[in-house]
Amino acid sequence: ATPTALMAASGRGAQLGIFLKGYQALEATRTVDTVVFDKTGTVTTGSMTLGDVYCVAGVPRSEVLRLVGGLEHASEHAVAAAITSAARAELGEGAELPAVEGFGNDPGLGAHGEVDGHHMLAGRVKLFTDNGITVPEDVRRHHAEWQRSGRTTVLVARDGVVVAVLGLADAVKSSAPAAVAELRRLGMRTVLLTGDNEATARSVAEEVGIGEVVADVLPDQKVEAVEGLRAEGRRVAMVGDGVNDAPALATAELGLAVGAGTDVAISAADLILVREELTAVPDSVKLARRTLGTIR
Ligand code: ADP
Ligand code: MG
Repeated sequence: ATPTALMAASGRGAQLGIFLKGYQALEATRTVDTVVFDKTGTVTTGSMTLGDVYCVAGVPRSEVLRLVGGLEHASEHAVAAAITSAARAELGEGAELPAVEGFGNDPGLGAHGEVDGHHMLAGRVKLFTDNGITVPEDVRRHHAEWQRSGRTTVLVARDGVVVAVLGLADAVKSSAPAAVAELRRLGMRTVLLTGDNEATARSVAEEVGIGEVVADVLPDQKVEAVEGLRAEGRRVAMVGDGVNDAPALATAELGLAVGAGTDVAISAADLILVREELTAVPDSVKLARRTLGTIR
């Protein structure tokens, strides 16, 4: 009965936009009781826009955007794409972003490199405190205020001095609230797991109805969070899209990759959500329960 059930489920899954990597995936999906979601690009669209820019006195906005745009041009992160396109818009038609040398990305923290002879640093507060850079009071104030209103924030330093803070907005997927509500109806515990800050994460979780938040985590701490839930006896499904989600996808009972996600996430997952709507997650659970319920 097993191969037949799997074939039927694969066919039905394909119609629902769900690609199952094998029988194990179906079995794991049936027994899951906790669903952990990555935030950026999974619960949110991941296509961010740069909304707010605050520069310290004496540093022009155009100069900040030019330098940080040059830096982020080398990064593939969702915040980098938003910053780069805002910098291009600021500089105007035909102007080129300056090149970056010695670019480096600290996963889950930010980016650094030399632009136009300046050492540039962009990212989370932790990246700055780790580098011994103090964040001035006026910058901190905007930073905190924007985080409370659900923005993702990026601090910018030039030659070791903080010059600006950027606020980026990212809309939640329209299918997210319905998907979470259906998972809860199916008896699932739901968790939002993100490298972004606590205030932003809470605002997103509230908007879509996710019950718990684990924020400010580095990529390897995503794995620890999943392991922690498993140690409590939970059967965990992890839904993610990024390179930094891949280890957690592999650690979970069931890894679900968003189809538009990175190749690394897709290969680490057991199940791929080909369609964009997050309702594919509860659909997968119902499919597995229906398929395997008949043979058990
Ligand atoms: P998520 O778990 O939400 O996908 P990440 O772990 O990828 O988030 O990133 C966490 C945070 O690190 C981002 O919200 C951002 O503040 C910062 N960050 C990561 N990469 C960059 C970058 N290239 N430039 C600036 N900030 C970055
Ligand atoms: Mg992500």
